[in-house]
Amino acid sequence: MTPTDMPPTGRPVEHHVLNPATEELLATVPSTTVAEVDTAVERAAAAQARWAAAAPADRARLLRRFASAVDAEADRLARLEVREAGHTLGNARWEAANVRDLLDYAAGGVERLSGRQIPVPGGLDVTLLEPLGVVGVIAPWNFPMPIAAWGFAPALAAGNAVILKPAETTPLTALELARIALDAGLPEHLLQVLPGAGATTGNALVEHPGVAKIVFTGSTRTGRQVMARCADRVKRLTLELGGKSPNIVFADADIEAAAAAAPMAFLDNAGQDCCARTRILVQRTAYDRFLELLAPAIESVVVGDPSDEATQMGPLISRAQRDRVRAHVPAEAAAIRGKAPEGPGFWFPPTVLTDVRPDAPVATEEVFGPVAVLLPFDDEADAVRLANATEYGLAGSVWTRDASRALRVPRAVRAGNLSVNSHASVRYWTPFGGFGRSGIGRELGPDALTAFTETKNVFISTEA
Ligand code: NDP
Repeated sequence: MTPTDMPPTGRPVEHHVLNPATEELLATVPSTTVAEVDTAVERAAAAQARWAAAAPADRARLLRRFASAVDAEADRLARLEVREAGHTLGNARWEAANVRDLLDYAAGGVERLSGRQIPVPGGLDVTLLEPLGVVGVIAPWNFPMPIAAWGFAPALAAGNAVILKPAETTPLTALELARIALDAGLPEHLLQVLPGAGATTGNALVEHPGVAKIVFTGSTRTGRQVMARCADRVKRLTLELGGKSPNIVFADADIEAAAAAAPMAFLDNAGQDCCARTRILVQRTAYDRFLELLAPAIESVVVGDPSDEATQMGPLISRAQRDRVRAHVPAEAAAIRGKAPEGPGFWFPPTVLTDVRPDAPVATEEVFGPVAVLLPFDDEADAVRLANATEYGLAGSVWTRDASRALRVPRAVRAGNLSVNSHASVRYWTPFGGFGRSGIGRELGPDALTAFTETKNVFISTEA
């Protein structure tokens, strides 16, 4: 069976969703045609007008009900994510809970989304934060539920309707979330999920004059194309793209703690994480000790059946992704390699390359698999130079016990999300997004709703 059936027109009409751990067929999902996108946008616009006119307290209440309904089905959603995306059960549970939390957090903003009153002569001046209208969210396959919700939760809370196009490989949890929203009482057509190919369904959303904003997460290559099409229409756009994030370990750090944390900082979700710390930079004087601790930690990572509670790392999403990852790793390279199952499934072992040039493709390009490079540096200036030697700028970590350095280095690294003695990057309370080719705009955090509004200024003369 081929992954996509191609009719004589050459356009895919349905997609086979496979379990990446077993290669078994899970479902066949019809692709949304361009004409169906038109109809969906029309319906979304009508639903949005009613939604924006509803009392803020009622909108907030419905979003909280949606959050509770996600909570009630969290385990089922998590298990579907395990089968569809190969995520470990622990991760998938976190992901379903993240959708719930995002909805609750956004619901809290509905009644607080206020403009300003600005002192002006001759009258009263106020700003209004108005919803944009219909928002298109184009989600990737690496975190199908959370990344969709990063878009739809604040967009709905700000009074918009949302059309979500999930990745072709992972549409099932998104379709379930739309069903749960309806069951929870959200108005029909307010949150629609349109599965389909990026080049047709996704592109139709990008080009549609009735879609006011696109929220895109995915590769820098596709993001660039989406941006160009949005530019033609002066369409609002948020881009969350790739990364090649550094994990900077100074000799003055707690080396045991840094080495213990380094593996899952790039192996979580099998490395298919835009924030993965895939460039491990270690000060030369601590390099040997770090390597001595890192090697057994990598070799002991449990890779296998993602539905097993003990598993730390599952498969890659698809055969194509495994081929992409393989192509990045020179077969003869010196490396620490972990274990991976043989047989069906898109497996790749945890891999740390120990003898690569800092400008080699594997050290500069996003691999999006369980592969990191280990590079030595001499001093703080060298560490910052290496950390910034990338076109990306999404995330990064600094491990040190020196309090001044802990303040200095994160300020010197050009990236949107830095952490000190930690690898945490994503929290729904705090803004998330990239510098450089890692993206444009910010998601999450206290300003998440504002990103889905247009500011209108109104001056009322008191002299008429
Ligand atoms: P893409 O960027 O191509 O896909 C992301 C989303 O965009 C999917 O929903 C996709 O649909 C859609 N899409 C594709 N083409 C268009 C288009 N012309 N117009 C509108 N939407 C479109 O990523 P890939 O899945 O091809 O992954 C390739 C690489 O991208 C990975 O190896 C990784 O490096 C990077 N990536 C980064 C992510 C991140 O979080 N920053 C997430 C995913 C990938 P469809 O599913 O049909 O392709």
